[in-house]
Formats: sequence, structure tokens, C-alpha cells
Amino acid sequence: MKKHNFSAGPSILPQEVLLKASEAVLNFNNDNLSLLEISHRSKPFVDVMEHARALVLELLNLEGKGYKVLFLQGGASTQFLMVALNLLEKRAGYLNTGSWSDKAIKEAKIYDDIYEVASSKNANYNYIPKGYDIPTDYDYFHCTSNNTIFGTQMKSFPKCSIPLVCDMSSDIFSRQLDFTKFDLIYAGAQKNLGPAGTTLVVVKEDILGKVSRKIPSMMDYKVQISKSSMFNTPPVFAVYVSMLTLQWLKDLGGIEAIEKVNDIKARLIYSEIDLNPLFKGYASKADRSLMNATFNLINDDLKETFDTMCREGGISGLNGHRSVGGYRASMYNALPLESVQVLVEIMSELETKA
Ligand SMILES: *Cc1c(COP(=O)(O)O)cnc(C)c1O
Repeated sequence: MKKHNFSAGPSILPQEVLLKASEAVLNFNNDNLSLLEISHRSKPFVDVMEHARALVLELLNLEGKGYKVLFLQGGASTQFLMVALNLLEKRAGYLNTGSWSDKAIKEAKIYDDIYEVASSKNANYNYIPKGYDIPTDYDYFHCTSNNTIFGTQMKSFPKCSIPLVCDMSSDIFSRQLDFTKFDLIYAGAQKNLGPAGTTLVVVKEDILGKVSRKIPSMMDYKVQISKSSMFNTPPVFAVYVSMLTLQWLKDLGGIEAIEKVNDIKARLIYSEIDLNPLFKGYASKADRSLMNATFNLINDDLKETFDTMCREGGISGLNGHRSVGGYRASMYNALPLESVQVLVEIMSELETKA
């Protein structure tokens, strides 16, 4: 039986997506060729790329609103510098809510001055700063919607008169938002969208072309847009599996439908964390992530028992990130409610044993 996969990334994919993906590796489109051995310029693959792009705009409700969709390589980490290269002329504002924001700031600083509008670094990022001002004369404001490592999530986004850039790697397609508020969204696929190897970028075209520096072709959003993400050979398998996952989500009822399940899963785990005296949550309650629940055992002597019970219950990928310790239950779209129920049962069983 398949394990209950709480891995933070790469992470769980829908079983039917894995099945279709494995079929395509052997025989794609009934053409008696593998998806992995055909030209990316062949019609069957161009159709995949176009369908994936269309699904992104449809699911985010961004059709006909001036946005372009790219499937790039280099992970979200490459977007840290690509954003700066393409948008940073004089100064940008960054909200520092975790290790990934911190890395984004570090990369952008290579190119120009960065202003940290607020930071929760002193509290080891266990909350989301609020009530900060964003200067109106900056090139853009950058934030991270969900902090995968620390388990915090932005519940609202600041009013922003300058372009709003957001790293949504670990919660894109998990909840309904007014995505038109954002001018550039990026997300590594391996959390909530597909396998490792591609990064989704959704960008409002009219914010581009405003910096004076020369941008290397591979790093230039305008070049990538003009070549439909095929300036060079795209990661065909990762794009295909992402397309299958997007189609799976659409067939399920889209973001509106999955958000309901995600809410139920999160409520279930957090109520166990709060009611069970053996555990305590890491993130500040108001900022808790619906995707990554971080928690610790109050008494570390129970660790071995709990870990064994989890292992025997088929739970996988529950270890916290080394910078937080404890446990992290990542509950991305593809994780069934049943997996959270199994975990919660084990947590409450530990209480009766202890
Ligand atoms: C995982 C993650 C990244 C890094 O993604 P890579 O694709 O490995 O570069 C960046 N930001 C967030 C929020 C993440 O969760």
C-alpha cells in the first residue's frame, strides 16, 4: 500500500497522474514513442505546453488579463535573481518571512539596493510581520506567500501601488486569491504543481522591459515569452506531469473545490496539535500555513515512540526542516484527507500511551 506522504518537496502527486505519466514514458499519445524521445517542437509536445499554459490561466482566473505563462528551469531559486535582473532598476522592497525570502533578498542584492520592509528573522520566522509601509517609488515589492520551512502563510496581501511579485512555490493552486493583484508569480513545480525540474512563472507583460541593463537571453522574461518557453529545450517530462496535475485539479472542480479540502485537512491537524498536551505548534496561530503544519513534541523522550508509531502507520516525510526541528506535515493538494486522519489518530494514540 502507498505511504501517507507528507514530504515538503518534492512531494506527493495524484496517483492517477503518476499512472498517466508512467504510460507516457513508454508510449505517448499511442504513437509508439516515449514522451522522452520525441522533439519538443513536435505537435504532440507543443500541444502539451499550450494546454499547460491555458490551464494555469484558467485555474488562476487570469485569462485575457495581460498575463503570460512560462515553464522555466533552474527552480524558484533562479527566479530570485531573474526577478531582480528583469525588474530592479533602483530599489526594491522585500518582506523577509523565512529562509526563502532571505535567499531572494541575497540574490537581488547582487544587482542593486534592497530595502527590507519588515522581517520576522529575530523570532526565527514564526510569524508574518504586519503593518509595514511599502514605499511607492520602488520598482517592485516581493513577498513569499507560504513559508514552507516555518509553516507560516500570508492570509492577506498588502495594498501595493508598485508591481507585486510573489514566490508562491508552496501554496499556488491551493486557495482562492484575487490573482490579478499580483504582477509576477513564480513557483517551483515540485511542491504543489508537479515534479522537480520546472518552475512556473506567471507575469503581467506590461511590467517588463523597463530596466536599462542588458539581460542574458535565458534570463530574460521577454525572450522566454517570445519563444513560448522554448528558447532552449524545455524540461518536457516535468511540464507534461505538471499539465496532468493541472488537469486533475480542473476535473476536481478547480481551486475552489480543493481549497475546501485543504481547509478541512488543516483544521484537523491544528486542532490535534492544540488539544493534545504532548505537542505544540511552531507558527503563530494567526499565521498558520494550510500547507505545511510545523509542530514539536514537548517532551523529546517520546520521539522514538512517536517516530516508530508513524513508521508503522505508513507515514512518510514528517521530519521538520533542520532549522526548525520537530515535525512538519506538508498537506499539499494531492494529499488525501485520509492521510491526515491517520496521522491525527497516531498523535492521539500517543497521548493515551504516554
Ligand atoms: C522550495 C522553495 C523554494 C526553492 O525552490 P527550488 O525550486 O528548489 O529552487 C523557493 N521558495 C519557496 C517558498 C519554496 O518552498
